[in-house]
Amino acid sequence: MRTLLLLLLIGLHLGAPIVKSEDLSFNRVRHFDAIHYKIGLRFDKKRNRVFGDSELTLRPLSKPLSYVELDARDIDFNSITDHDTGKQLEYEYNGRKLRIKLNETLRQFQNITLRFVYSARPRQGIYFIPPSVDGDKVLRSAQIWTQGEAEETHHWLPSYDFPDDKATTEQIIKVESEDDVIGNGKLLSNTLDEDGTRTFHYKMDVPHSIYLSSFVVGRFLKIEDRYRDIPLGYYIYPGGGEIAAKAFGKTKDMMRVFEDLTGVKYPFNKYDQTVVAGFPFGGMENITATTYADTEINMAGNGGAEIVQDLVSHELAHSWFGNLVTCRNWAELWTNESFASFMEAAYRERTNGRKDYLRKIRADTSEYLAYNAATEVARHGLFNTSADPEDDLTMFDPVTYNKGSAVVHTLREEIGDTAFWKGINLHLTTYRFDNVETKDVRETFEKASGRSLGWFFDQWVYRSGHPKISVRQRFDRRTGILTLTFKQKAVNSQVGNVLYHLPLDIFVETSEKQYRQTLLLSKKSQQLAIKTRIRPQLVEIDRDLKIPVKDLSIAPLEIK
Ligand SMILES: [Zn+2]
Repeated sequence: MRTLLLLLLIGLHLGAPIVKSEDLSFNRVRHFDAIHYKIGLRFDKKRNRVFGDSELTLRPLSKPLSYVELDARDIDFNSITDHDTGKQLEYEYNGRKLRIKLNETLRQFQNITLRFVYSARPRQGIYFIPPSVDGDKVLRSAQIWTQGEAEETHHWLPSYDFPDDKATTEQIIKVESEDDVIGNGKLLSNTLDEDGTRTFHYKMDVPHSIYLSSFVVGRFLKIEDRYRDIPLGYYIYPGGGEIAAKAFGKTKDMMRVFEDLTGVKYPFNKYDQTVVAGFPFGGMENITATTYADTEINMAGNGGAEIVQDLVSHELAHSWFGNLVTCRNWAELWTNESFASFMEAAYRERTNGRKDYLRKIRADTSEYLAYNAATEVARHGLFNTSADPEDDLTMFDPVTYNKGSAVVHTLREEIGDTAFWKGINLHLTTYRFDNVETKDVRETFEKASGRSLGWFFDQWVYRSGHPKISVRQRFDRRTGILTLTFKQKAVNSQVGNVLYHLPLDIFVETSEKQYRQTLLLSKKSQQLAIKTRIRPQLVEIDRDLKIPVKDLSIAPLEIK
């Protein structure tokens, strides 16, 4: 997901508690494994209602199962039955949690398929958008679209609405005959029904977290393309062909670059991109079917080509980071978003060179620092102990995205290109179709680099904030020595006041010579002396931007 560029959302989360974040668990306790959701839906557009006839096949995890608890928000159930026997099942429901009593205890390796017949008027999850008209002319059709992340799917589908359980899905969606439906995975059929409606049947046979389940209903112009054997679809409004070409024209090239960089082929069997009206985010990486805010994609036609390119590459990168390998819980959202944001820069590097890559990393850093400056109180780390799936502002912010992107860059600089991309490949192959936590990411990059990286993840991922360094530079004419004094301010972080461990590249230039040294800054105060003999003309610290996320102030050169 990416936030809207047109909106500047600043949320102040004051008084984040000081916790030892590694000790906290943000995982849910699971009792069953959801295997397959068969989702049957039709709509009443006038009343914003959805009618569901859906099934969930599941099996117990370790212990026998006599109850199944699911997430379901404000749903009116007509019936809940055992699909195979047709027998009614007893249930308790409080508008949020649905607790179903099974007629017989389910043992290991036994499956059950639950069938739900229901209706709802969802306040979240499904959004009904009226058409845009000018007199008699319809400029844009009515739309129905979903937004699942973080936990909105259970507003229209009784489900286990948490990222750590992956299931296959099937969608059977009945709409008006003129409407199109863009769903997840392969379109099995599109049939005109006897009653004049149309039914679309999609099947997504690669298991995925349920927040990635989606559909869009509306009338679109579809532009078709192909990358290898993967069909690509760009769904835009009539007359939007030129904008689609500008916005989505590089999709194939991005797929090729991401496959090449990660060493992992695009993991799914199609990729659709659809614009919708009123979308609350810039884009959302629904599995095989990204949804975008039309206002963001329209920027491609209004001088915003670069912004749109970053957005499109970000959402595509989620096919690897987020959709193939998914955060285990919301505190670990950075494992989706920081890597997807970093891949925007990696695509720029491949197409425009290193300079443009660093420009993106620098821009990400500035955005994070500006956001962070809004308050002195410690914010969350990349590992986000403040994550609240009911409050987007606690998670989808410049820490998770922009700081995250710059920190992934620093990891790359720390372990070197070969180990970094080897680690990326290992991450995607080890945890494919699975979920990850920070400790898994750390272990993977330790394996790839042969180095111990506990210190790196402690300070850059678990810790909030960033290092604050001031440098005094003095040149002694008599001795010909340049002395640099580094002072590091202990940072008020969620894990207490701490100092960073920073390998800083120092570059000094006189009219005669250049000097390069690396200082391992880890104390409150450290000095570095370089015999330059003559007065230095230039002193630069971290000139290659290996550690962008820092507050660095350098006082003017003093000469005595
Ligand atoms: Zn994203």
